Amino acid sequence: MGLFSTVEAKSLEDLLSHHLKDLYDAEHLILEALPKMIETAQYPALKEALENHRVETEGQVKRLEECFERMDMEPERESCAGMKGIIAEGEKMMKGDMTPELKDVAIIEAAQKVEHYEISCYGTARAIAMELGQAEIADLLNQNLQEEGKADQLLTEIATKDVNPSAK
Ligand code: FE
Ligand code: ZN
Ligand code: FE
Repeated sequence: MGLFSTVEAKSLEDLLSHHLKDLYDAEHLILEALPKMIETAQYPALKEALENHRVETEGQVKRLEECFERMDMEPERESCAGMKGIIAEGEKMMKGDMTPELKDVAIIEAAQKVEHYEISCYGTARAIAMELGQAEIADLLNQNLQEEGKADQLLTEIATKDVNPSAK
């Protein structure tokens, strides 16, 4: 199987199932990647924000499982090549040769790329769920979307107030 396997969709509903499987994989990839990022981060508020979002991500996985249930589907991961790539870039940065201060800047960059990608995916999936009249699924996806937005805003705050100035 290549990087992008073929997606078969005959309806908008099929596309929604695809997005759910893709997001389910993406959230698991993030859960696998976060411990290393938390360990590598130096600035306490950054460590804490990442740890809080890790716990939040466990809840997001549960919400996706509820979405599958409402679609009468078993939860299933379908490889999210986008998130895989974003995480691979982050890992490259974390292995990089730089001061701890610069590394915190790099970790925030990687984490915000993850959030932005998630915001994009959840926004699309929510819109499709709404179009299909799947209000409960749309609401669950919206809850995840809101959490990603808040995580992203907090990272911007930590970067601009503390981490970026310390790296100068
Ligand atoms: Fe997430
Ligand atoms: Zn994806
Ligand atoms: Fe997130």
